[in-house]
Amino acid sequence: MKLKKGDRVRVRSGKDRGKTAEIMRVIPSENKVIVDGVNVAKRHQRATRATMQGGIIDKDMPIHASAVAIVCPTDGPTRIGYRFEDTASGRLKVRICKKCGGDL
Ligand SMILES: [Zn+2]
Repeated sequence: MKLKKGDRVRVRSGKDRGKTAEIMRVIPSENKVIVDGVNVAKRHQRATRATMQGGIIDKDMPIHASAVAIVCPTDGPTRIGYRFEDTASGRLKVRICKKCGGDL
């Protein structure tokens, strides 16, 4: 999983294609991500003692990581590459944009 929470991504397929939003959560075991306001399911919630009110709740459902592309500030949607940086505490893996080579 190359994507991280907080990444800005462009949705490439599905009903929200073209949207740009932030990753709220990654689910590495399923190779899926939850993106803010993307793939929203309307859930009808019954009133319970705990919530006190029913109604329709919007819930962001996970989408496959391959359905989104990370957004580079200069190039827009791009692919993720890596570079390695030697530091005092060891070798660091840094994500870079495959188009411009800038850090992501
Ligand atoms: Zn770039």
